[in-house]
Amino acid sequence: MRPRILIIYTGGTIGMMENPVTHTLQPFDFTHLMDNVPKVKMLDYDIDNIQFDPPIDSSNMNPSHWGDIARAIEENYDSFDGFVVLHGTDTMAYTASALSFMLENLHKPVIITGSQLPIGEVRTDGEENLITALQVAAATTTTGEAMVQEVAILFENYLWRGNRSTKMSADNFNAFKSNNYPPLANIGLGITFIEEALYRSPSKRPLKVRYNMDTSVMTIDLNPGMTEGVLRHLLVTPGIKGIVLRTYGAGNSPTDEWFVSLIRDAVERGIVILNVTQCVNGGVHSTLYDTGNCLTQAGVLSGHDITIEAALTKMMYLFGLGLNGETVKKYLNCALCGEVTI
Ligand code: ASP
Repeated sequence: MRPRILIIYTGGTIGMMENPVTHTLQPFDFTHLMDNVPKVKMLDYDIDNIQFDPPIDSSNMNPSHWGDIARAIEENYDSFDGFVVLHGTDTMAYTASALSFMLENLHKPVIITGSQLPIGEVRTDGEENLITALQVAAATTTTGEAMVQEVAILFENYLWRGNRSTKMSADNFNAFKSNNYPPLANIGLGITFIEEALYRSPSKRPLKVRYNMDTSVMTIDLNPGMTEGVLRHLLVTPGIKGIVLRTYGAGNSPTDEWFVSLIRDAVERGIVILNVTQCVNGGVHSTLYDTGNCLTQAGVLSGHDITIEAALTKMMYLFGLGLNGETVKKYLNCALCGEVTI
């Protein structure tokens, strides 16, 4: 059986061309993209495609687009062995994280890729990324099941777990990294899967897509010199249900009385606050220092080693399920699909 792969082209640099008038890059259609990768035909796969109309720069992505990608996967789930999502790099880690929660009981590969240079350019990384993503989506184990059964990001030399990934570079071909989790595969002369790192959903139930993502969440980044007025203003943002508090180091914050009491007050008003470190590597150990312990005492939850992208989208997903604050907190403290080490 030839592998059946569905490409979902959403836009991003990979398919862009220069506008002759403004000289800026603009998304172009799928035919243009495929015309520039004749090698795809050398793969003995059955490939079909769906494209966003119009394709978009990923800075314009929002939860309704995540829903469009998820719907394309749901409607074609039984007809294809794997899915390759072509996506801009800017918000790719958010989309990968969101899809990992939205696609419950996923047992097929959803491989997201893009490129730093448009596919028509001589030195493009897009051609290689697209071909490798197709090969990863088609890969099987010795027993014939899909090798990858999760949402993953394929970029240059690595395959990363989607909900562990972050865009690390605006210039480098190795643009992504999962700072707290090993690669799922190393891409060199061959594709070497790290099988023990791959996620397997324990559920045998059919795919269930959760479309409702509640956007009543936000991030607050601490900075030295943040004033009481600024923090107070942010914490009374109308309608907000969840906050990802981006703290220093191992989850530390100022211990000033005004700071701690504003946070405690927000928690008492029912806002779920998750402590996520600003460091790219490592996690929150909130009882290590006084400066972290004060947040725990105020009712702030540890985000452990979760990424900001996964933290925000996990909150959107949990509130989208209609759960109350206490239940949201309970699930934030568990790994749902390999997004956090507890
Ligand atoms: N602005 C582009 C996007 O995210 C950048 C890229 O694709 O690399 O759509």
